[in-house]
Amino acid sequence: MRLDTLFLENFRNYTAQQITFDPVCSVICGENAQGKTNLLEAMVCLSCGKSHRTRSERELIRFGEEGYRLEASIHTRDRDFLSRIEAGYRRKKRITINKAPARTSADLSQVLNTVFFCPEDLQLIRDGPAARRRFLDASLCQLRPRYGTALAEYQRLHEHKTRILRDCAERPDLVATLPDFNLRMAETGAVLIHYRARFARLLSAYASSAHSECSGGREQLTVAYQTVKTVTDPFGEHPLLVEQLLEHQQAHQHAEMASRQCLSGPHKDDLDVQLNGRCARSYASQGQTRTAALSLKLAAREIHREIMGEYPILLLDDVLSELDPRRQEYVLNRLGNGQVFITCCEEDRLHSLLEGTVFRVDGGAVTAG
Ligand code: ATP
Ligand code: MG
Repeated sequence: MRLDTLFLENFRNYTAQQITFDPVCSVICGENAQGKTNLLEAMVCLSCGKSHRTRSERELIRFGEEGYRLEASIHTRDRDFLSRIEAGYRRKKRITINKAPARTSADLSQVLNTVFFCPEDLQLIRDGPAARRRFLDASLCQLRPRYGTALAEYQRLHEHKTRILRDCAERPDLVATLPDFNLRMAETGAVLIHYRARFARLLSAYASSAHSECSGGREQLTVAYQTVKTVTDPFGEHPLLVEQLLEHQQAHQHAEMASRQCLSGPHKDDLDVQLNGRCARSYASQGQTRTAALSLKLAAREIHREIMGEYPILLLDDVLSELDPRRQEYVLNRLGNGQVFITCCEEDRLHSLLEGTVFRVDGGAVTAG
């Protein structure tokens, strides 16, 4: 998969800009607040119809303008595509692919996929389990439609059960509905565990090799899937998983009633990320944290290629800072196949870029070379 050209009109701080990118590596360089992240944001929008930073279309429109347009020519599955978004201009948002109107914004992901790394992704290592679950869910939803369906169902059941637990002191009749919820949550929960266990196994293998290479063989990263305690083998058969989830629910029945919270189920899953045998969250340095978070994203990209047959484009926002020269060299030159976009502020470190093009961004204007 390759993004060949991008056209932006009245998008964020861009007025009208056409860019032809490098098929291998495009380094987007510029001072603070010139439009580097905005450029990557446009690519994210073209891959899924929405921004990673905001839900508001208004925010994306250049100050004082009526609407924005984005257009990208993309090469994938041996064909050329033209994806286009037009929003604002006092009309409904319009998305077309090769001039044909798209049914939903999800159609954009049939043409362009991105793996995006930004400074907030350091939360993957530093924060609590929720950040890592979001990463698992987002990656799996892109790759496995059945997972997306199961996740939506599980979340619906979880919310409903939480409401029942909250209200059942006032309405004891609701308690009778709990066994049915428990069974359905165990059944859908087992589907989530099935997919997460397999994803985590691949993630560990790929992330560990990326981290090892990036650190010059000095550091070993491991990622282990942690789910409900009574599950003896997350790769086990579906009926066994369901049985073990029900067992855990039963053991926590009283605690759930007392705390009025849903305590049992894969909504508490986590990935245990360790560096050289120690918990990364507690002990990793800044550079190690960045390398580990990046390795998880690189692993997600490899898994995407393994399942979908093609690399998604890789967007690295401000990844080079805090990395020593060896790690920077790895990011610039040794990410293997697949097209890469890297933003950075300083140019002096780019002398080690072997193959690729440097673009300069200045006040929403991009020039190559
Ligand atoms: P940094 O190195 O600090 O991350 P950057 O080059 O990534 O900088 P961007 O996040 O791309 O900077 O933002 C560039 C500028 O775009 C900012 O000054 C921001 O205020 C401006 N901007 C954001 N939204 C709009 C908009 N709707 N219209 C006009 N300008 C905008
Ligand atoms: Mg930025």
